[in-house]
Amino acid sequence: MEIIETDILVAGGGLAGLAATARFAADGLGAVCVDPLPADAEGPDLRTTAFLMPAVETLERAGAWQAMAADATPLWTMRLVDAGGEGRHVREDCPFEAREMGDWPFGYNVTNRAARRALAERVAALPGARLIDRATVARVVRRSTEAVAVLADGRQVRARLVVAADGRDSALREAAGIAARRWHYGQKTLVFCVTHPAPHEGVSSEIHRTGGPLTLVPMPDLDGRPCSSVVWMVPGPRADELAAMDDARLGVEITAETMGLFGPLTVASPRAVWPIIGQIAARLDAERLALIAEAAHVIPPIGAQGLNMSLADIETLAGLVAEAHRAGRDIGAADLLSRYHRARWLEMAARVAGVDLLNRFAQAEAQPLRDLRRLGLRAIHGIAPVRHLAMRLGMGTR
Ligand SMILES: Cc1cc2nc3c(=O)[nH]c(=O)nc-3n(C[C@H](O)[C@H](O)[C@H](O)COP(=O)(O)OP(=O)(O)OC[C@H]3O[C@@H](n4cnc5c(N)ncnc54)[C@H](O)[C@@H]3O)c2cc1C
Repeated sequence: MEIIETDILVAGGGLAGLAATARFAADGLGAVCVDPLPADAEGPDLRTTAFLMPAVETLERAGAWQAMAADATPLWTMRLVDAGGEGRHVREDCPFEAREMGDWPFGYNVTNRAARRALAERVAALPGARLIDRATVARVVRRSTEAVAVLADGRQVRARLVVAADGRDSALREAAGIAARRWHYGQKTLVFCVTHPAPHEGVSSEIHRTGGPLTLVPMPDLDGRPCSSVVWMVPGPRADELAAMDDARLGVEITAETMGLFGPLTVASPRAVWPIIGQIAARLDAERLALIAEAAHVIPPIGAQGLNMSLADIETLAGLVAEAHRAGRDIGAADLLSRYHRARWLEMAARVAGVDLLNRFAQAEAQPLRDLRRLGLRAIHGIAPVRHLAMRLGMGTR
């Protein structure tokens, strides 16, 4: 049976696993990624990802951004709208402008399919990287000097470091005995694309109403019409009801829900439904193992934080690994992994808690809480230094 030797094994080739593989290999390390999906599969993911600038920089270092940029739409304005009073009307409309901070947009919106294609191509092109597709990691034997991953087909991958990027139900996390706390919000997210009469002008809009936020993120024009992707969080039964509607009816519902802010909206894609959970792992390290991305943290899709946090995990781990590699030290050593845990866990926990709070406020039905949310938004937006701090925090920069 084949035995493959490498520096780093990445279990899971979702967007995070592929990005990690390219990022490590771009630094001259050997990195093997294992995932069940065929390498050239489009994938079933209809979502888009708003990559904020720090994440774009990581993708640039991985050499994958250039291919993604062709399909990317810049995000110049993050507009937060509060519509949490009685009836449907705008109570507060707060645009946060990237140009206030410099010449760069907040980030870029890319379809997950385009992102996956660019990352898979980059992994295929990098000399040290390899994607073993149509395969799963069945178990990992972790020793003091190396780790051996046994694939379901019997092949073995020997590495000095294993990175668990195997998603929210991470089997590697569980096998390592790392506890994870999971909670439910009773919400689901409906994802689809709409076209609208007026151009979006790079504005991403998050509308906060009772039940959960509704976000429209700019995309390239579709058949000559301005287009945005929709992430619509609602209580579970309402999501099922919306998902069952025909396109015309769903268009009427979303036009009403967006209070006509974008004119009449036309549904322009199939739709997908995602259950919303929160989850956090108790640690990010075990012997020869580092957790990244959804294996470590899952949050509701508010403020485009999820995969951006994952790219921050990757950047931090890649920095520590490259430093050890240059110095001829063990890249899977316990002290390196514990430094990774310390560098990421508190920041990660703060973001998970922050997004949890925002979601609970967004769900709030009690009028005093809705009013508090509106006042908070107005205060943050109204005071320039506080507004700039909020923008930096949202971007993951200081
Ligand atoms: C509606 C929605 C919108 C979002 N929008 C944004 C956004 O705008 N910006 C943002 O930053 N984030 C966003 N997110 C979050 C982001 O999409 C996720 O963080 C990201 O897709 C998760 O990627 P992942 O690679 O961690 O996990 P996954 O995509 O789940 O990948 C895990 C992979 O591991 C594989 N796997 C599992 N077990 C094994 C095994 N034993 N061996 C090998 N492989 C295995 C799986 O098959 C899978 O391919 C959004 C999330 C949702 C739900």
